[in-house]
Amino acid sequence: MSFSSDAKAELIRLPFGRNCCIVTELSALTQTTGSLSFHGGGRISVTWEVENTALARRIFRMLKDGLGFAPSLHFVQHARLGGRRTCVLTVGEDEAPRLLTLLRMMEPDENGTPVLRRTLPRPQITRACCRRAYLRGAFLGAGAIGSPDRGYRMEIAARDEALCGLAEKQFEHSGITASHYMRRGIPVICLTDAQSVADALAVMEAPQALMKLENTRITRQMRGAANRAANRDEHNTERQLSASQQQVEAIKFLAIHRGLFTLPPALREIAELRLEHPDASLEELGQFRTPPLTKSGVSGRMRRLLREAEEAFAAQAPEPGP
Ligand SMILES: [Zn+2]
Repeated sequence: MSFSSDAKAELIRLPFGRNCCIVTELSALTQTTGSLSFHGGGRISVTWEVENTALARRIFRMLKDGLGFAPSLHFVQHARLGGRRTCVLTVGEDEAPRLLTLLRMMEPDENGTPVLRRTLPRPQITRACCRRAYLRGAFLGAGAIGSPDRGYRMEIAARDEALCGLAEKQFEHSGITASHYMRRGIPVICLTDAQSVADALAVMEAPQALMKLENTRITRQMRGAANRAANRDEHNTERQLSASQQQVEAIKFLAIHRGLFTLPPALREIAELRLEHPDASLEELGQFRTPPLTKSGVSGRMRRLLREAEEAFAAQAPEPGP
């Protein structure tokens, strides 16, 4: 399997999370793989078409177990496309209005009857949990990631400008630099440096793929450092990390080696805030939270977080050398 399909398989295995996240991930999957069918008389059904069977199963379970719909699932063999098989999921016309309302494509008119307002979902993303879910859904629906052996690149083909803008904004909120270019009339969002791709994997919660990428990257960096050391100009430039940089490094270490989702919610929250605001003081960090936390509250959690990182490091580190 490719690095890309491994990363997707890892994401597909993740639990759904909160209800808000299910709706958000499903919105992204609908934006990238869904479509509407109109049957006359205002009757509409919703269809998703994907090649990845495991992804189809995830969408099916989100709809059924997560949101209480009764989707149907069948397979279509394409004679034209080299016999490729796609999975087609459908939510029928009886249930479509409730689903389309959840996805904010339908809104009630003055009589309370749901009316179609948009042909693609427009999720409202206000929480960090939903930001992760949105990026995960967009990547699963229309993304690909290059093997780290051949450079660092992640792409998401957006079906329209609005999706492109929304996904770029979520990356930006997560501190990740994304850009986009046009490919055959379709905007494609791309991340093109190691740090951005690594951060995106951390945000989407694919610790195994992240570890593989980081290992490749560290090997390269060490090779580079060895070369530089051979040139003897590295000696007095050892960098002093600031306290907040140390916290960021510790959190990244935890993200890579344990996954932030293994942390207690209070610590995970502070870890995410620190990653989003790497330069903020502890006091400012507390203000980013609703309701705000005091400085001593933040610093207590940060101490516990650093202890977790030390323990993870101790479990990981080889015996100290001479
Ligand atoms: Zn959420």
